[in-house]
Amino acid sequence: MSEQAEPGLSEPFAQEDAAARSGSVPEVPDGVPHVVVVGGGFAGVACVRALADAPVRVTLVDRRIYNTFNPLLYQVASGGLNPGDVTYFLRSLHHRQPNVRVVHEHLVGVDAQARTITLLNDEVVHYDHLVLANGVTTNYFDTPGAKEHAFAMYSRSQALKIRDTLFVRLEVAASTPRTDDGLRVVVVGGGPTGVEVAGALAELRDQGLRPAYPEVDGDAFSVTLVQRGDEVLKSFLPRLRRYGAAQLRRRDVDLRLGAGVAAVHPDAVELTDGTRIPSDLTVWATGVHPHPEVERWGLPLGHGGRIRVDREHRVEGVADVYAVGDVSISPDDLPQLAQPAIQAGGHVGKNIAALVAGGRTTPLHYLDKGTMAIIGRRAAIAQLFGKVPVTSGIAWLLWLFVHIMGLMGGRNRLTTLAGLVTRYGFPFHRRPVPIVGDVPTVRPPKPGKD
Ligand SMILES: Cc1cc2nc3c(=O)[nH]c(=O)nc-3n(C[C@H](O)[C@H](O)[C@H](O)COP(=O)(O)OP(=O)(O)OC[C@H]3O[C@@H](n4cnc5c(N)ncnc54)[C@H](O)[C@@H]3O)c2cc1C
Repeated sequence: MSEQAEPGLSEPFAQEDAAARSGSVPEVPDGVPHVVVVGGGFAGVACVRALADAPVRVTLVDRRIYNTFNPLLYQVASGGLNPGDVTYFLRSLHHRQPNVRVVHEHLVGVDAQARTITLLNDEVVHYDHLVLANGVTTNYFDTPGAKEHAFAMYSRSQALKIRDTLFVRLEVAASTPRTDDGLRVVVVGGGPTGVEVAGALAELRDQGLRPAYPEVDGDAFSVTLVQRGDEVLKSFLPRLRRYGAAQLRRRDVDLRLGAGVAAVHPDAVELTDGTRIPSDLTVWATGVHPHPEVERWGLPLGHGGRIRVDREHRVEGVADVYAVGDVSISPDDLPQLAQPAIQAGGHVGKNIAALVAGGRTTPLHYLDKGTMAIIGRRAAIAQLFGKVPVTSGIAWLLWLFVHIMGLMGGRNRLTTLAGLVTRYGFPFHRRPVPIVGDVPTVRPPKPGKD
């Protein structure tokens, strides 16, 4: 639930692991400029790739050994894709790009005067150019109980936790005689992520789970979407917002609009207007914030604690340090989405290559190619080039194409295509079988025993 509980990333684990691997950054040959890129997400990988032909040594540092394609995490959470379909082993970048070395470590400190960074294993690494692309994490906005009782979805392990908890709770509902409707899922946040999660869960319920859980009274589970504003998908054109809301309602998603979340309890979500919505599983799909360590790096911070950069994505007033992607805020205030991260990462990589070659650097001119969201089977929205609205089957096909092509690795593209077509595509798969994990045997308490 909370990020501390995330397997593989807890502090003790990281320290133990680090002790076994001290001195993880390979030596850089003398005279070769050293570019250190922190974060192997959309922005970091785009930057690394843009440096492929430059006469530099690139060190890519990431606290995970894989890149995560966040836009499809909710498919993992709802049993539509395998976790490995949306992740890519970062060390394989070296196969195609000999000038890159990948280091599995966690950045903890930046010393811009000394031009060094410190990793969690206490290793101090010198850089000639530093690119910070370490993304963001969930923001609970200090909502009481949210971190403890709601499930975030900012990593593969968090998505798996949602999926496995869903099935544990369904098994409990199936083995426990209840008088109410079964399992209640509440999704907090009416942006694209919240809408996609709610839509996917509703489709899973209708096509896969209703027949699989005949023991559960009434519906297998109910899905409620809570949104503080009066409309969902507020970053889209009004027509697309209305289409999204109508498609969710068609799939029996209960939209609770106009009130925020005051508190999250183990068994309910309390709204700011006093309403209490019973919840067996609360998914937190709203709000992001830079990782807490960013505050300690002594860099200038702007709105939302993001690192302030100029139009070339240089950190304001700090020589040879750049920030790209979600962690940065430029004068153009680009949205925290994949495309701005890819374009800024690639642009900074090209600028560094130009500098090394004695050339000039240029500001980033961001091209808004469009944004999209899927609600379910052949129901999606796309806003192309910031203004052209597309809905229904065409938007769904576009969504499918963009998401398949955006993945890293041919195998991931193939398996994801198979997974998504199975889930949404053909009439003969109207009852797609969800991908499940381990669920402990649920045994109802024996009468007379505590
Ligand atoms: C569930 C979900 C759905 C989304 N859906 C969409 C969508 O449909 N369309 C869209 O455009 N955008 C979507 N986004 C947003 C998009 O994923 C982000 O805008 C994008 O990932 C930002 O790229 P980035 O490179 O800045 O960060 P990320 O891709 O998050 O990469 C950051 C990397 O830094 C690493 N890292 C973090 N801290 C450290 C550290 N201290 N040391 C070393 N490594 C570190 C992380 O492990 C990670 O690999 C979604 C996000 C989420 C969470």
